[in-house]
Amino acid sequence: MRTRFCIAFAGALFAVFASSASAQQAGDTGTPPSKPLAPPSARTEALKKEVVAEIEARRTFTQQLVDSLFSFSELGFQETETQRRLTDVLIREGFDVQRSVFGVPTAWTARYGSGRPIIALGTDVDGLPTTSQTPGVVTRKELVPGAPGHGEGHNAGHALVITAALAVKKILDRDKLTGTIVIWPGVAEEALGTKAFFVRDGMFKDVDATLFVHVGSDFTTTWGEGTGTGMVSVEYMFSGSSSHAAGAPWLGKSALDAVELMDMAWNFKREHLRPSQRSHYVITSGGNQPNVVPPYASVWYYFREIDYDHITQLWNFGNTFAEAASMMTGTTWESRVLGSAWPQHGNRPLAEAMQANMDTVGLPEWTDADQQFAKAFQRAMGSEERGLPMKLAQLRGRVSIPAEEQTGGGSDDIGDVMWTVPTITMRFPSNIPGAIGHHWTSAVSMATPVAHKGATQGAKAYAMTIIDLLTRPDLLANSKDYFNNVQEAPKKYKPLLRPQDKPAVWLNKDSMDRFRPALSKFYYDSTRYKSYLEQLGVQYPPPMPPESDKGINTRGPQ
Ligand SMILES: [Zn+2]
Repeated sequence: MRTRFCIAFAGALFAVFASSASAQQAGDTGTPPSKPLAPPSARTEALKKEVVAEIEARRTFTQQLVDSLFSFSELGFQETETQRRLTDVLIREGFDVQRSVFGVPTAWTARYGSGRPIIALGTDVDGLPTTSQTPGVVTRKELVPGAPGHGEGHNAGHALVITAALAVKKILDRDKLTGTIVIWPGVAEEALGTKAFFVRDGMFKDVDATLFVHVGSDFTTTWGEGTGTGMVSVEYMFSGSSSHAAGAPWLGKSALDAVELMDMAWNFKREHLRPSQRSHYVITSGGNQPNVVPPYASVWYYFREIDYDHITQLWNFGNTFAEAASMMTGTTWESRVLGSAWPQHGNRPLAEAMQANMDTVGLPEWTDADQQFAKAFQRAMGSEERGLPMKLAQLRGRVSIPAEEQTGGGSDDIGDVMWTVPTITMRFPSNIPGAIGHHWTSAVSMATPVAHKGATQGAKAYAMTIIDLLTRPDLLANSKDYFNNVQEAPKKYKPLLRPQDKPAVWLNKDSMDRFRPALSKFYYDSTRYKSYLEQLGVQYPPPMPPESDKGINTRGPQ
């Protein structure tokens, strides 16, 4: 009896796995197929071939943008050189450029064309602290010690977007197509710092669809619920009173004590939070010197969860602990929101259209040198020496991911845009499999032929999808239908930002002021050097590290 039950149970289990495996292959689990699009017209196909040829012809332009932005190494809200470089190009090309929009000095929009559809084209632009790295060198070699760098690869996104936009613009002009493209930057994405403000303040008010891109080590897009989290970023600021820490400590009220008590409470709370949460903090101010009781201290928290209600629940716990810590220490507290992000949801019809174009263009043609570079890097990482991807991934997506499979992860404030207009993210292959996120190893490939080719290939599929949106009205209609009737069926967007919250434009200013003079000596000069690697005198591909160096990048402090 027991045996038979087990067999029956195992059979049922197998049936579940088998059906979910085949559904996975179809890129879906149990949701009805999306409405089919009318096949593209011969004209659409011809225009796509044209944009691909235009993008091929712009390889040098793309490479120069990738390399320039890499060399600027700018942190969030301080992307001034990046803004200048990108908007100069767009002004020269006849785009209507507005700088310093929506209360963010380094933000901008660049608009071209007229009438509908209005298609927003975006990608992130900021770098990360302490990730300065010489590109093409597979072991640690900072350009400027301690400085920021592109340790995620945000430098390649706008090379892709602008290359694609210029190819499309040529066709808009020649064929007098109706439609508008609006290019915008994800300023301070690493702080989840602007997109929710852009949404709140109307950047996407008239937009019909958004095509977003982000660097990756593969060429993919997805639809439906994302596997990561949404979040709110909150700084808690405590005020007490100082006193001589030895002479009269009883007269002091330590703001640092309040910070430590709040953090201690949070770390006890962790045990009783859901596995899908992620929370972390840094102490942004801890006092001045030990013999002065700190009158002021502050701590900056990221509260991440997979839906709005749980994000706000974490935020409320934070507020409670701040209040309790202030009561214990006789201090006062206030807080400010520095950023926020909604959990992501990709639009299915847009993802399907993008995937069809990615299938057409395929992965970049990697050379033996590119593969050697990737394998040398992977040896230094101690990861499998599998080189660069050779097989395109299939489209994947599910309307919703069951709670038990939601194990948390990172966030991107593109989530707020995704809940405002039909939006997808395309990931393009400019990085090498095996790199560590938010780390100098993710900068190694980002101004090399791997990054250049990834951006060019991404630009082709991206421009082809813009052509789809401009010439196939049913794509836009289907994407809106999905947005309204599938994505929004269970829930609607409720901003985490409050009306009084303002973009934290002061972030990273001190750091950039400190490092910019040294970094500026390394800015890429495209008038003198064909590539940044040539300017830096870096050999490509690098030699294969000896076997004894396997995993050297993960040993010791880096
Ligand atoms: Zn990013």
